[in-house]
Amino acid sequence: MKYKRILLKLSGEALMGEKQYGIDPIRLDKYTQEIKGVKATGVEIAIVIGGGNIFRGVQAENLTIDRVQGDYMGMLATVINGMALQSALEKSGMYTRLMSGINMEQVCEPFIRRRAVRHLEKGRIVIFGAGIGNPYFTTDSTASLRAVEIEADVVMKGTRVNGVYSADPEIDPEAIRYDRLSFEEAYSKGLNIMDLTAFTLCQENDLPIIVFDMNKPGNLLKIINGSMEVGTIIAN
Ligand code: UDP
Repeated sequence: MKYKRILLKLSGEALMGEKQYGIDPIRLDKYTQEIKGVKATGVEIAIVIGGGNIFRGVQAENLTIDRVQGDYMGMLATVINGMALQSALEKSGMYTRLMSGINMEQVCEPFIRRRAVRHLEKGRIVIFGAGIGNPYFTTDSTASLRAVEIEADVVMKGTRVNGVYSADPEIDPEAIRYDRLSFEEAYSKGLNIMDLTAFTLCQENDLPIIVFDMNKPGNLLKIINGSMEVGTIIAN
């Protein structure tokens, strides 16, 4: 296998599937099968899931909710998604732990780095919920930070397009896809890969990012076993 320990970032929005809000059971099941295929190879898997399908902090302003309050609502949304994913993975025979950046013992474990690493070593899939536990951050930043903390080999950002393009491929048919970019190139071209906090954390810690299409069956496994170049890799 090309990687021993990965951090998979899934957006909350992706979990909506064809729906306008919430969790689409079909999409959840598809993701479960993709993750199961990779787990079978023995790779250690940590997952950060977003909350955009339920609530985003920036939405708060339109609802006359204080931004910080809104961010906490967003973090709680990621726990709801994490619980759904945990349940789906366990129903499919995988062992999991949900760890939260905000303490809520009745629901999940608190995030303790050493314990997270131990779970991974024991073959459990670790889902990191509630972001990093602080407002004004995103789940992309959570993915970068947790990946650095647990010494993952790579952050794999599952999206609905197959990598990083020069323009939005869903709008511009001329957009070209990059196979590989350095952090410097991605930054100087103004490519929107992750928010800058998340991006810089990866760059400074020499942690590669792979952006790939999570909705295409088998993609995740192809990247892990190195059988095919999929998506775009951003590395120093
Ligand atoms: N959030 C936060 N701190 C964190 C992670 C997330 O405040 O460390 C909040 C923020 O309001 C964000 C929301 O949780 O908008 C949901 O996360 P995100 O927007 O990253 O989800 P995604 O876009 O991946 O679905």
